[in-house]
Amino acid sequence: MEVKIRTLTPLWTGDVDRKCETLKETGIIGSLRWWHEALVRGLGGYACDPTSNEKCKLDHKKFDNSIKKGKSVQEALNEQICSVCQLFGCTGWKRRFGIQINGLTSTDFRESGQKAGLKEKRTFHLDILPLSNIDHNQKWLFKKTLLIIENYGAIGGRTTRKPGSYQGTSYGLIQIKNYRELESWNNESNIENVKDWLKSNKKNLNKNNNFNWFDFRFYWLIKGEHLDKDHMNNLLRLEKRGKRSFPKSGTEKDEFLNFLRGKQGVSKKIFSFDKSFENIEAFIFGYVRNKEELNKLKGMLRIELGEYMDFKVGKIIMRDLE
Ligand SMILES: [Zn+2]
Repeated sequence: MEVKIRTLTPLWTGDVDRKCETLKETGIIGSLRWWHEALVRGLGGYACDPTSNEKCKLDHKKFDNSIKKGKSVQEALNEQICSVCQLFGCTGWKRRFGIQINGLTSTDFRESGQKAGLKEKRTFHLDILPLSNIDHNQKWLFKKTLLIIENYGAIGGRTTRKPGSYQGTSYGLIQIKNYRELESWNNESNIENVKDWLKSNKKNLNKNNNFNWFDFRFYWLIKGEHLDKDHMNNLLRLEKRGKRSFPKSGTEKDEFLNFLRGKQGVSKKIFSFDKSFENIEAFIFGYVRNKEELNKLKGMLRIELGEYMDFKVGKIIMRDLE
């Protein structure tokens, strides 16, 4: 199964050496999973964070016992691991698909500099190789994840830099030129069936999402605007001292501001794209943790961007998923 993808901006899935001369499959899978988790949480399900110590693990003895008792594989998995791990794998359970990236040569990459990585306006094939049965609800979620990334998100490593260290170019925007076999994946189920499945999985696991994890209900988007560094610093109450930015005096311990400011090794909370590439409208997106924070942030953004900004939230976007 082959999905044809075009980069609208450079794409970065580099490693710690800061080299990105190939697209790393693990980087793409990491991004796919991150958005998939947010969608599952947004739809009322539980999705573990695989980088946390709350990540799922499959106990094979328990699994085998459930199968012996006549339970299906799906039921036996539902007792132990979240829906995302059932597709993307975890300790004790293999990912149900492999991916391969084809159609690129070394001339498609910039080795270094501000725009290092896969160049903009390149087309590649994301080949999805099913390794075991992907069920209809998983197919629905996977297709919707791609739609969300294409229309509301970004992929790759550099999009996850924290605002204070913002530099270089806009990264990670893609357009899906052709879904091919995946085109019909969202017809395999519907939002109500998926929600029911996620609800029963969450009930079985008896787990709650961590307050800090990305939940698509609290995603937000503003089209036609971007935040330059000064706006970003104002918004986050940061001030420049020398080359670095620091919290303004009196705001160092503000929990919400610190959440938005982020820190090394933790995903960014605000992503801003300017119009520096062809066919791209400026836009800003991000996420917070609850409704109150959405309202608070909206007020803060109005001060920077004006009264008439077009502020859209994940809960409304999800209504159109069907
Ligand atoms: Zn999990």
